[in-house]
Amino acid sequence: MSNDTLRNIGPIVLLGPPGAGKGTQAKRIVAKFQIPQISTGDLLRDNVARHTPLGMQAKAVMERGDLVSDDLVEEMVAERLQRDDARRGFILDGFPRTVEQAIWLDGFLKHGIFDNQKSKKAKSGDMAPIVIRMDVDYNKLKLRLTGRRTCPACGRIYNVHSQPASVDEACDVDGAKLVIRDDDREEVIQERLATYDRLTRPVADYYERKRRLFVVNGDRPLDQVTEEIFREILRHSAPVEGR
Ligand code: AMP
Repeated sequence: MSNDTLRNIGPIVLLGPPGAGKGTQAKRIVAKFQIPQISTGDLLRDNVARHTPLGMQAKAVMERGDLVSDDLVEEMVAERLQRDDARRGFILDGFPRTVEQAIWLDGFLKHGIFDNQKSKKAKSGDMAPIVIRMDVDYNKLKLRLTGRRTCPACGRIYNVHSQPASVDEACDVDGAKLVIRDDDREEVIQERLATYDRLTRPVADYYERKRRLFVVNGDRPLDQVTEEIFREILRHSAPVEGR
């Protein structure tokens, strides 16, 4: 086990418009630090696919590009964060999306849900998240979203313009046929970007006022963005104890 997988990490909140690369960067953070990515979009899509009561309430809202209600999403996140694999830390991808969700998250984290109760952070209840916002030019976002393809089997993300699969429309890892997300259609994309501006930008302002916001220029090459994000995470994470 490397030092990075021993220390308590984050929690990390990834903010940014749809298509900014949150999912891709989250997967790299998972690989380096061995903490789970908790994507509310993925959790909701899974509920829709399984026809759960939550999925049935969320489906139409998601198809329109609107946000699912705060209560429903918060309940789903609370349940997920209490699972064992989130004890050392976790990455929230797509949450919080409203100021109300951000306030709820602060309250939830104050109770100290990390495994390492010996850590000073958990004792003081200071579980302030590391908030990273990825900014990307509007026209590039549209290109990324219309070109996005996802592997339905392993979740790997491709892009027909910038990161195509080696063999046309099939996953490099498992050969599954790549799919376009229902809400990555042109009309819905417009709505999702508008929703981001209206409801999620204020979330970044909320964190900025608390001096917790770190902004990354997501227009740069993937590896550079990753490097900057890792540096920021390590700067804020609890050191490995006893070393
Ligand atoms: P995403 O995969 O993060 O782009 O999310 C896809 C869709 O799921 C969004 O357009 C919303 O309809 C819904 N969704 C995801 N996360 C949230 C959230 N934190 N609050 C409300 N709705 C959400």
